Amino acid sequence: MINIIELTEICKELNCKCSVSCSLKDYTTFKIGGECRMLIDISSSEAAVELVKYLRENNIKYTVIGRGSNILALDEGYDGVILHFGNAISGVEINGNIVIAGAGASLAEVCKKAQQAGLSGMENLYGIPGSVGGGLYMNAGAYGSEMKDVVVSAEYINENGELCHISAEDMELSYRHSIFSERNCIITSVTFELTEGNLDDIKGAMAECMKKRVSKQPLEYPSAGSTFKRPEGSYASLLIEQCGLKGLSVGGAQVSEKHSGFVINTGGATCDDVLDLCQKVRDIVKEKTGYILELEPIIIK
Ligand SMILES: Cc1cc2nc3c(=O)[nH]c(=O)nc-3n(C[C@H](O)[C@H](O)[C@H](O)COP(=O)(O)OP(=O)(O)OC[C@H]3O[C@@H](n4cnc5c(N)ncnc54)[C@H](O)[C@@H]3O)c2cc1C
Repeated sequence: MINIIELTEICKELNCKCSVSCSLKDYTTFKIGGECRMLIDISSSEAAVELVKYLRENNIKYTVIGRGSNILALDEGYDGVILHFGNAISGVEINGNIVIAGAGASLAEVCKKAQQAGLSGMENLYGIPGSVGGGLYMNAGAYGSEMKDVVVSAEYINENGELCHISAEDMELSYRHSIFSERNCIITSVTFELTEGNLDDIKGAMAECMKKRVSKQPLEYPSAGSTFKRPEGSYASLLIEQCGLKGLSVGGAQVSEKHSGFVINTGGATCDDVLDLCQKVRDIVKEKTGYILELEPIIIK
């Protein structure tokens, strides 16, 4: 049982805004999901530690979200507390070629700040609509670059609720994978090491990346980006297209006509619509090509 009054009081003391019965539609780029019991905007690493301690001691179910761009929230919502890492923990500090960002900072904002400081290395990550924490958790990447290439360390809350530091070598970063996803850890800040570059060249490369995204991706519709992970030896979008599944839909969920790797919300899609559509796609792709597609977005349950 969540003692809403007590938890609200604790949030107040920790300077964290909290919202009761909050719709997850408003916190996911898919614009899908029911309500959670409470959503707390984390304001600092210390506040996160205190909240995790309270939630554990009181056996309250909780989970973490960043910018909600790789999440599928169930229609029935989430029967627990969501710790939201967004603008309230998004400070960015630059010292020489070292950039330290709060886990809630948007990757796009960090890329822009790095560019303004003449720092190169994050250009290809520009346009990924996630947070720094969510990006590291997923080892997000695009156009041949990954978080792995630029992250040197992170501050995080370990399985025992303690605030710790970890270097990139120990994060087990690989394709859409990190140690954080296995150990139920919470990333609170991320340190990047970049290289000096030319301001205009960096800006040009970022603009080029954004141009590719706008021309190839269905950004005019809500989605969670690529719906399936890249299977070993092929590409999900290629397999889906080869199977003639572009435009296939269930309710308001559709395999994008513009980019077959994206399932989009054409309006009023439910989580069940998306999951049913994804299952159909997986079944047909498996039957026709032998490839097994794995969902990329994380289901909050
Ligand atoms: C239009 C579009 C384009 C995209 N393009 C790309 C792309 O090119 N490359 C790519 O890799 N991804 C892409 N994505 C997917 C998504 O943006 C990335 O996976 C991103 O890194 C997710 O970050 P987030 O903050 O939104 O995380 P969320 O979606 O909020 O969360 C994702 C997972 O990370 C966990 N998490 C989030 N924050 C933390 C934290 N602080 N500590 C611990 N765990 C945390 C959550 O619990 C969840 O399991 C795209 C998505 C969209 C909608």
